[in-house]
Amino acid sequence: MTNDCFVCQGPSKHYSYWKVFEYVQCQNCNLIYLKENPTEEQIYAAYDGGKLKNLRRKLVSPFRRLEDFKIYEEKMKTTSQIMDIVNQYVSEPGKKMMDIGCNKGFLLTQAINRGFIPYGIEIVPVLMDQFKRKFRQYRNNIYSENFSKVSSQVEDEYFDVVTAIDVVEHLQNPRDDFNNVFRILKKGGIFLAQTPDNHSKEAKEEKEHWGALKAYEHLILFDHKSLELLADQIGFSKVEYYEPIDKNIGNMLAVLTK
Ligand SMILES: [Zn+2]
Repeated sequence: MTNDCFVCQGPSKHYSYWKVFEYVQCQNCNLIYLKENPTEEQIYAAYDGGKLKNLRRKLVSPFRRLEDFKIYEEKMKTTSQIMDIVNQYVSEPGKKMMDIGCNKGFLLTQAINRGFIPYGIEIVPVLMDQFKRKFRQYRNNIYSENFSKVSSQVEDEYFDVVTAIDVVEHLQNPRDDFNNVFRILKKGGIFLAQTPDNHSKEAKEEKEHWGALKAYEHLILFDHKSLELLADQIGFSKVEYYEPIDKNIGNMLAVLTK
């Protein structure tokens, strides 16, 4: 089945090939997206790193603490920078924050440090083993179903903050998911997202070799124009940008306020 530009249904033009997959770009809003998505199986295999990596993770997981990961110090630094941005909007303790695609829970660890009640979604459950052991009181706030399933059980205006670091580009039903993020956010709440920017220096220079073009994983690639158009359609009142935390592939870091 061929996809349309889900933001504006505008006409699209060839952008690049990635193996057998074709990326096209909307000539109206600039969104880059796959003409046809990969299968569910191909998408999931790309996430969990394949059977061997997953088995290895399961075997060593019980003996590892969150602090034992080599990337721990670095992640504590970058996630603290993200929380600095969050705190510009929401700073009182006791607020609820949901991190979609929470991986090993580094950002949620910093959210706890800042007084937030953490909630997370990670579709590869073994990744959150260490976090759940470290923060047993919050282990029931961690879900391993996809966002649409989890959000369907969440009442309106429940969260103060929703974050999605390197997640938006993976969404298979982006309009539904954006609508649901909006619905579960309180008025004045924020959606903070880091995602590749198809208008970044890296995207422009590297063209079809741009690191964000990976068809099994990245289904939609925004620029400011397409993201702002979507945010406006959904009802967000403003979109503001910050220095992205990971700069290597030409990301943007956007905060959408409800
Ligand atoms: Zn479009």
